[in-house]
Amino acid sequence: MPHPRSVPSASPGSAHREAHLLATNESPYSPLPSVREAIVAAALGANRYPDPGCLRLTEALAEHHGVPCEHIALGPGSAAVAQQLLTTVCAPGDEVVYPWRSFDAYPLLTDVARAVSVRVPLKGDDHDLSAMAAAITPSTRVVIVCNPNNPTGTITRRDELAAFLGAVPENVLVVLDEAYREYARDPEFPDGVELYRDRPNVALLRTFSKAYGLAGLRVGYLIGPAHIATAVCGTTVPYAVSAMAQAGALASLAAGGELATRTAEVVEERARVRDTLVALGWRVPASEANFLWLPLAGRSGDFARACARAGVTVRCFDSEGVRVTIGAPAANDAVLAVAAAFPPYV
Ligand SMILES: *Cc1c(COP(=O)(O)O)cnc(C)c1O
Repeated sequence: MPHPRSVPSASPGSAHREAHLLATNESPYSPLPSVREAIVAAALGANRYPDPGCLRLTEALAEHHGVPCEHIALGPGSAAVAQQLLTTVCAPGDEVVYPWRSFDAYPLLTDVARAVSVRVPLKGDDHDLSAMAAAITPSTRVVIVCNPNNPTGTITRRDELAAFLGAVPENVLVVLDEAYREYARDPEFPDGVELYRDRPNVALLRTFSKAYGLAGLRVGYLIGPAHIATAVCGTTVPYAVSAMAQAGALASLAAGGELATRTAEVVEERARVRDTLVALGWRVPASEANFLWLPLAGRSGDFARACARAGVTVRCFDSEGVRVTIGAPAANDAVLAVAAAFPPYV
């Protein structure tokens, strides 16, 4: 999303050593054998169009979450679903309130919907929910809560989120972007599926791109009130979710236990990397996602370049910070080696 025209910098085979890709929060694991089999089987039918309604996957998700099928809208990635949602809900000139810094697709998706971005600065590393509530005007149609937040990794807790939802007028839709929720371990982390049930103006976004490890297949979804889900489905490009993506997502749901083991490994690595950085004197916000935020301000570029020299790509937000995805242990070790040699943190 952030670099639509860029080419991946790692080209295995041409590089003298393998690059570590820690810039886009992907899973370091390739698909499980059962998932690979399902994808290959679907690929063999690639002469046929996929099921445009994603019926089996929708039914499986409905059962998985305990929600009606009519409350689910699938699309080619949750960012695409978010774009469909904003385009559906907003008229040109309507306002979309979101935290900043947060997911860098929000401004782009808001622009595409011809809506107006209202960015509410984070308070420290966290959402400033009272400022977000105060930013709501009669023109506001949507408020986005990114939980855990990308790129800071911080969360909005259950009580504060429930209080916030109580303060938002019913004609404003609150979108909970839960792309990283599988990595959250804080017992106070709220479950959007529980929060949306008795509220007519709450929808949530989930994806198979992160903990489910299917970023390259493009499949994500919305859960929300029937009128919202139906409207989003109505804006979809025909056959947007490929048969391979549908099959891969279905097989991944069935392999939930194995995927949870992988997620737990990433969570363990997250603690190891953060603990090591903190011991080196770095300030690193506690993260509930599969990445860490290094608020290096003016030294962000220097650190990102030092990582690049060590064969590690990270995401640099100039003069703000660097976001580092938690990868396989060897990749994480490479980052720690760069950090240990970086001039003392100030
Ligand atoms: C990665 C990400 C997404 C999901 O993107 P897909 O389109 O599903 O691949 C959504 N929201 C946030 C905050 C993300 O970081």
